[in-house]
Amino acid sequence: MQHIKLPDTALVLLYCGLGNNQHPPLLLSPFLPLAVPDAEHEWTGPFFFIQAADPQLGLMKAWRDGDCDGGGEEWAEEVELTKQAVEAVNQLQPRPRFMVLCGDLVHAMPDTPFREGQERDLKAALKGTDPAIPLVFVSGNHDLGNTPTPRTVEQYCSAWGNDYFSFWVGGVLCLVLNSQLFYDASACPQLKEAQETWLEEQLSRASSSREPKPKHILVFQHIPLYLKTPDEEDDYFNLQKTVRQNLLDRFKKAGVKAVFSGHYHRNAGGCHGGLDMVVSSAIGCQLGEDTHGVRVVVVTADDVIHRYHSLEQLRAGGMDEDLRKLLQA
Ligand SMILES: [Zn+2]
Repeated sequence: MQHIKLPDTALVLLYCGLGNNQHPPLLLSPFLPLAVPDAEHEWTGPFFFIQAADPQLGLMKAWRDGDCDGGGEEWAEEVELTKQAVEAVNQLQPRPRFMVLCGDLVHAMPDTPFREGQERDLKAALKGTDPAIPLVFVSGNHDLGNTPTPRTVEQYCSAWGNDYFSFWVGGVLCLVLNSQLFYDASACPQLKEAQETWLEEQLSRASSSREPKPKHILVFQHIPLYLKTPDEEDDYFNLQKTVRQNLLDRFKKAGVKAVFSGHYHRNAGGCHGGLDMVVSSAIGCQLGEDTHGVRVVVVTADDVIHRYHSLEQLRAGGMDEDLRKLLQA
């Protein structure tokens, strides 16, 4: 299937086209610009969105069994947690402008036994999302394979939409990236090149005086640039130092405000040199002391303020009052 790229200037408020036909949607129509695309280039005041990561259907059982490579034959717990997240987000007032899932949608790697069932059940769980809350999907290493190939990338795109794209929301430019192409593109160098070229163009246009200036630029990717400090050692959970430094420099130069990620299954991150590296824990399996949850992100004229909320907390009490007050500014 053709790998479709978005027109990069278009506003795309992404809508999760979870069809009930047997072919998962390529999400073509959801990627079409809405009727008034330019409106989203304009800042119209504070808003918020939800950032979540790693529903990773199948990991909880696999982790308990100590068989993360081959296990994952059960995923009812993650389905239930995803439904709880959807329910908690649906009842928020005002509504979030969108919800982004920062990768590892499912645990089963491409071409492994439980893949199809996990993808099907995640789509079913997400189908309960209020249609007024667009869903944005980001690809993770489990979605693409640790060493992605043109075929696994194409499979992902067929199931969940493009692996990298941009969209505008309320005057803010959002860039969704395929971090697996930064991590290991040995089996798909051309795809890496294509993303690089596209990213460079996005960043230079965003900082160009000839283009409408975004109020903020936000990046979404699965693997964090770093977990705590920009100079930390390479790790399974961060990007390699040279790649990391290259991206940090380019993001800072373009004025990127924050990078949102998952992958770590714990909350982490840090703000260095004006760039906020946000690492959010998982909807699904926890590898640390955090609770199953999602992050509430408030965007004001001057700032991007965020806080992780447990699913319980969000469902029972909504977002924290101090964050809600920022929306009234
Ligand atoms: Zn991951």
